[in-house]
Amino acid sequence: MLTRYVYETNVPGPRLLLLGAVHGNETAGSKAIMRLKEALDSKKTVLKCGSLTMLPVCNPLAYAQGVRFVEKNLNRIIRRFERPSCPEEEFADEVAQAILQNEYILDLHSTHNAGEPPFAFLDYPGAQTRRLVAAADVDYVICNWPEIYRDAPIADYCTEYFAHVSGRYAITLECGYHYDRAAEEIARKSIYNVLAELKMIDYPFEVRDKSYLTLKEVVIKKRAGHLQKNYRHLDAVAKGEVIGLYEDGEKVAADYDGFILIPNHDAADGTEWFYLAVK
Ligand SMILES: [Zn+2]
Repeated sequence: MLTRYVYETNVPGPRLLLLGAVHGNETAGSKAIMRLKEALDSKKTVLKCGSLTMLPVCNPLAYAQGVRFVEKNLNRIIRRFERPSCPEEEFADEVAQAILQNEYILDLHSTHNAGEPPFAFLDYPGAQTRRLVAAADVDYVICNWPEIYRDAPIADYCTEYFAHVSGRYAITLECGYHYDRAAEEIARKSIYNVLAELKMIDYPFEVRDKSYLTLKEVVIKKRAGHLQKNYRHLDAVAKGEVIGLYEDGEKVAADYDGFILIPNHDAADGTEWFYLAVK
């Protein structure tokens, strides 16, 4: 069973779920959740209405080993499993149940390259998800993820997808580099901002201006090759620029001016190499 903390009030209101360490080595959200737990237990922070559920570590097996996942990427298999075949399917089932018991979901992640700016994924734009993303303490919002996976050879059952098809409202936050203390602070502020936006706590917050980027494509690495330079998340790319080069000479170039997102210099063959987006 996953560790779960539930805070119920007697006043009707939103049901909010916080998820940490869906990827085992992304612990900024877990730490921020534990700090919120301390604040609630000591009554420094008081819930005014609704209910708050927190799963600080959604993949405890990977968390214990300091890795993203062990057998299966949890954020690609979130759904109900009647007969789980491995621990990560058990965790996915528990996370799915928690999503079904709530209304709003904030899924807290971090990224594996130092210096990357924090950002949010807004996969299913609507009035409620836009409220959540507006409150997040990030400068960039990335939209259109589900569209680019429609034709990709990789299935993507993430928390946002499961929430969406279940009539719930979820966003994913990438709070910055795993090992940067600032990532924990971004997670903490975003949680408090969302609680305040939902009128669940009294907390003054300023809405940050945000850049909204639209994903155009995911590039899957087909075979041995490398990225042409030390690209970092959100670097600009120009139309015609060669981004990736396969060892057999085939080039992967940008078809438009835009941005490279989440470049993975160590991508294994058959996995996500990088993404392209436009403003
Ligand atoms: Zn993650």
